[in-house]
Amino acid sequence: MSSSIHPTLSLIILLLISTSCLTAVSSPLYNEEFTLCLLDLEVYLPNPKVYDQEHPNFDTLLQSSAQNLRYLMPSMPKPELLFFPQYELQVQDGVFCSKSSGIHLRVRSGGHDYEGLSYVSQIESPFLVMDMSNFRSVNVNMTEKTAWVMAGATIGEVYYRIAEKSPIHGFPAGICTSLGVGGHITGGAYGSLMRKYGLGVDNVLDARIVDADGKIHDRAGMGEDLFWAIRGGGGGSFGIMLEWKIKLVPVPSTVTVFTVTRTLEQGATKLLHRWQQVVDKLDQNLFIRVMIQVVTAGGGKAERSVRTSYNALFLGTANQLLTVMQKSFPELGLNRSDCIEMSWIQSVLYMAGYPSGTPPEVLLEGKSRFKNFFKGKSDFVRYPIPETALEGLWKRLVEEDSPLLIWISFGGMMSKISESSTPFPHRKGTIFMIQYLSLWDNASEDAAKHMDWIGRLYNYTAPYVSKFPREAYVNFRDLDLGMNKNGTSFIPPSVWGTKYYKGNFARLVQVKTKVDPDNCFRHEQSIPPLPLSLRGKGITD
Ligand SMILES: Cc1cc2nc3c(=O)[nH]c(=O)nc-3n(C[C@H](O)[C@H](O)[C@H](O)COP(=O)(O)OP(=O)(O)OC[C@H]3O[C@@H](n4cnc5c(N)ncnc54)[C@H](O)[C@@H]3O)c2cc1C
Repeated sequence: MSSSIHPTLSLIILLLISTSCLTAVSSPLYNEEFTLCLLDLEVYLPNPKVYDQEHPNFDTLLQSSAQNLRYLMPSMPKPELLFFPQYELQVQDGVFCSKSSGIHLRVRSGGHDYEGLSYVSQIESPFLVMDMSNFRSVNVNMTEKTAWVMAGATIGEVYYRIAEKSPIHGFPAGICTSLGVGGHITGGAYGSLMRKYGLGVDNVLDARIVDADGKIHDRAGMGEDLFWAIRGGGGGSFGIMLEWKIKLVPVPSTVTVFTVTRTLEQGATKLLHRWQQVVDKLDQNLFIRVMIQVVTAGGGKAERSVRTSYNALFLGTANQLLTVMQKSFPELGLNRSDCIEMSWIQSVLYMAGYPSGTPPEVLLEGKSRFKNFFKGKSDFVRYPIPETALEGLWKRLVEEDSPLLIWISFGGMMSKISESSTPFPHRKGTIFMIQYLSLWDNASEDAAKHMDWIGRLYNYTAPYVSKFPREAYVNFRDLDLGMNKNGTSFIPPSVWGTKYYKGNFARLVQVKTKVDPDNCFRHEQSIPPLPLSLRGKGITD
């Protein structure tokens, strides 16, 4: 077991062993207590970077990586403190001091949580945010073909550092390059290499985590159960990820990308129906997602229509791609002129939507390209959605101001990995995943209207998507599915837990009960430990 703990901290833990996460009582002086606690423990370190709400930079720092502006509205609860640890010891001490001062802890890496869970608590008060953005290093080892990547690094920084060392290696994770490695990989991490190599979590070799007692464990120290749970069980449930050891995967020196657009007038409905029939069976070097948006032809609402964009990465040359497409999906009518050959790192920028010619160094800025107000949901599809149902979908899409659906192709390696090998269970039999989004730019807009629209759309698609359970992707966090401690309308965690993890939920609860029985790491949809009355009986609620 590789475990390290500050000696002073160990002593205080022993003295205050009764300070459990569940029994901590808030004090009016918790802000000061937290900071003083850190100072006491860290006499030989520079002052910890802790900001309270009175600090002139508080708002800027809170907003720094928060991706969903809906969760920055004045009506949303604000953390009492923002804590930016710079040393591992401060992460360990932060866990201890949050407990001893009775202030609930949230952890943030890249801030992309759909429901703002890394910087807003709707169920705990007071709370503080531990922001991991100072933990950014990416150490690539080309002899081993591995890298240690810290939780606060963005996935774009990881891609850049790999490409810097080798143009023929990559890593299969998210398409959006500003995602934080800490939260992203814990939920699965799909991307355009997934049909060839699986998810980010399928390519993790080791990890280092701070547990509820402030101890650090690597894979050998934490054991295989916890190592399994953190590879898809979702962020914020089991501890604080410090870093991951990832396995690099080979990519060709030349890859090919394309984006082909079809409107309804150009036969988009039939084509999308065909895409659903072939997409999970395509050559696994080919990843095609479809972005579905509403376009306005001449200005008025009556002229709104639907546009589908087939956005793809092929691990090979344009000529090889044309052969594959001619054989498997000729209906798209892909031409040589649609295909752009480039290096893998350039394809990362292309798929992330950067303008042509953007230098890869932009990835080192570690910033998101856009922020908006949004609500998202997800589904998994096992049988092609019929054309008539697609037509009904279009009618609903044009009712909304700025809807976006992204259909993400599965199959290939995703079908070869068993449902229980990681907590991410959406594997064999899934043709594609749907990401539903309603986006808006203006704080004055009626959020309830957009939430209502997406809820109705989700009801509409129910007959056409996975059932019993209706599956969902934990990294597209959706609090409509239920949440811990939600007052009157309590939905048992097993209901939404089964949607995210299917049969793996029970094992996640067992691991949680073992490693964090006091539920120190918790949020609106964290994995709950077994209630005391059920412990030892292997029952989940
Ligand atoms: C614009 C956008 C594009 C996206 N694109 C993709 C994509 O291509 N592929 C994909 O798979 N997903 C995608 N996602 C979803 C994304 O994977 C999740 O939102 C993920 O949780 C983001 O991680 P983060 O660190 O940026 O977020 P955060 O908001 O910082 O964290 C998310 C969750 O993880 C917890 N957490 C954060 N850091 C740690 C840590 N160090 N240790 C333990 N828990 C932690 C947080 O408390 C929170 O519960 C996208 C999201 C957005 C908003």
